[in-house]
Amino acid sequence: MDMISIEEAYEIVLANLPPRRVERVEFQSVLNRVLAEELCASMDIPPFNRAAVDGFALRAADVKAGPVDLELVGEVRAGSGASATIAPGQVMAITTGAPVPSGADALQMLEHARSSPDGRRVTILQPVMPGQNIVPQGAEAAVGDTVLEAGRVLGPAEIAVLATFGCTQAAVWRRPRVALLVTGDELVEVQETPRRGQIRNSNAYSLTAQLRCLGIEPEYLGIAWDNPADLRRKVEEGLDRDAMVISGGASVGPYDFIKTVFKELEIKILFTRVAVRPGKPAVFGRKGDVLVFGLPGNPVSSLVSFENFVRPALGRLCGFTRPDLTRIEGELSSTIRQVPGRTAFLPAIASPDGKSWKVSPLPWKGSGDIIGFSRANALVIFPGERNLMASGERAEALLLPDYFMRSR
Ligand code: AMP
Ligand code: MG
Repeated sequence: MDMISIEEAYEIVLANLPPRRVERVEFQSVLNRVLAEELCASMDIPPFNRAAVDGFALRAADVKAGPVDLELVGEVRAGSGASATIAPGQVMAITTGAPVPSGADALQMLEHARSSPDGRRVTILQPVMPGQNIVPQGAEAAVGDTVLEAGRVLGPAEIAVLATFGCTQAAVWRRPRVALLVTGDELVEVQETPRRGQIRNSNAYSLTAQLRCLGIEPEYLGIAWDNPADLRRKVEEGLDRDAMVISGGASVGPYDFIKTVFKELEIKILFTRVAVRPGKPAVFGRKGDVLVFGLPGNPVSSLVSFENFVRPALGRLCGFTRPDLTRIEGELSSTIRQVPGRTAFLPAIASPDGKSWKVSPLPWKGSGDIIGFSRANALVIFPGERNLMASGERAEALLLPDYFMRSR
């Protein structure tokens, strides 16, 4: 199969997404989930004309001129269910959140009033406009108004909206179930001490963390050895999920069996090589509605390929309309070079610079160098046809998912 451009590969992945499914989730567990159905107001908010300040409910017409002395006829507190009324010349003490008495059309704040020592009268020191300091019933939402549209990512404020309307459950997009497999005879698990020729498996853990950034908790199937039988058994095990992410074994070496096993298991192979650096041997296949991603094993390649192909696909299955990394444009702070032919994604530090960005490429030692790469908060995009991008030139970059938590 031919090498295709990253744009083509991206389109192929998105064209093969299976239909999404909706589930109902307890409202306290919906943080960072995506709403699947719009929510309409089942009642007016506020449900009554609500006092916005502590003070006195009155008629604006009574306090037009200078300080005015009025009769204090009672108090209405937040939580009060009684229906209170005032007549011309009267005021009623009121607290924030209380229903405004009928007859009153404005509130004056405590700070602009003086009560008489006997508590029977109040001097209002300043005029107020009709409606001032009152939030009318239904002003924030009237019955039937859309308060959360479908597709809204549910954060703390949206959870408060659900609570406001008594929604103990919300209809959200179901997150895909994802199996995770790594391959390689050289791999040992983190707790073990590698013998000569062995290395610790790190991709299982970076990929798990990347999936968790989307809210997906993968099911880790362990390490598959570089033989078709073991690989086939473990890949088959992952095919009853919605998607499988596999690291390693996707290249053209004599022990890279991903493509062989895909064929044996009748996984339809949609591409096997992408003109991208790092991450050229990226395999994408599909069996029915199950998506299978075979990512290259080099730690940086695995990480970058995930962001390029897996995040856009699985993020959309989770319901996010724009799961792709945020693209920015900024000024390169040093000159970078490459052999042309593939779109490169190079580690960089992106920092805000006035109304634009500064993009500083980081030194690193290639697709195996996860240590150098780990200092990055962004990826500079180096177009495939170019061999040099000069310091001071404009360049595009992608902000890594945790950018906002690790930058100032
Ligand atoms: P492969 O894609 O299987 O040819 O592997 C490419 C390189 O990535 C080799 O140097 C592997 O040792 C390394 N590698 C493969 N899988 C992992 C992993 N799970 N963790 C860390 N390095 C890996
Ligand atoms: Mg390998």
